[in-house]
Amino acid sequence: MNLKNNHSLEEHETEVRKCLWCNLSEENLQVTFNKKAHTIPQSLGGKFLCNNVCDRCNHYFGSPEYNRPSVEVVLREGFELTRYMAFSNEKKKSNNYARFKSTFFKLNTTNRTFSLKPIYSIKPGFQASMARQFKRGIFKIFLEEYQRQTNNGMEGRFDFIREFARYDLNDIPIFYMTPKIPVLFYIESEFIAPELNFHQTLQKKIDDYEFYDLNIFGHGFLIPTYRNWNLTLESNIRKAKNDLKGQYIEFKLIESFEDVDFSLKFMGS
Ligand SMILES: [Zn+2]
Repeated sequence: MNLKNNHSLEEHETEVRKCLWCNLSEENLQVTFNKKAHTIPQSLGGKFLCNNVCDRCNHYFGSPEYNRPSVEVVLREGFELTRYMAFSNEKKKSNNYARFKSTFFKLNTTNRTFSLKPIYSIKPGFQASMARQFKRGIFKIFLEEYQRQTNNGMEGRFDFIREFARYDLNDIPIFYMTPKIPVLFYIESEFIAPELNFHQTLQKKIDDYEFYDLNIFGHGFLIPTYRNWNLTLESNIRKAKNDLKGQYIEFKLIESFEDVDFSLKFMGS
């Protein structure tokens, strides 16, 4: 009996939808793809969908666990703060962005600072826990957008991202890049219908540098794109830093939520 050959004849197998995160296919009766999976949370203006996210995984990213906020809530808290700071001026008072009510932070729009509300600041490790959820969220956005735009997100080289973002295993460094000039560079569409850019140069960096400079809501993040990042971190980071030195002055390893300049303090400096 040659099962292998029989299998290769079943052409429909190639069309069965698989989940980017848990790798289960819709042939499995417990796996459904009914809900729309936004690559960037809808609450942040995300309009694009990834068709390869099963309902269970989709639900997972929006659910709090072990006394921590969900990945999506942390993404929203951070980037809403940016949108609020970028748009909450007198001229744009009617703007939707100016209505942000943060769950975790007290905002000070005059000196562009934010601090944790007392109820959270007394929770030990809350900042670090937020940072971890945020980083997982950044990788979630990366892989879902990559899948949506290139259809190559299933590749085994991204398994380390699945382990971290979906299964909360290990840790992957992300560097926050502080812009050189105190100006927020963005295109209006980035805030209205945010998406990642995978044009040729950036794709080349993913392959050659093993890093991707991810731009979203005017922020720059440097994220590893290969499992072996720890072996090549120093040389690749050096390459990336040199390449980006015209745009950024600082590359900060994100350890605490406040390591990311969500409130755009750099603009006031
Ligand atoms: Zn799944």
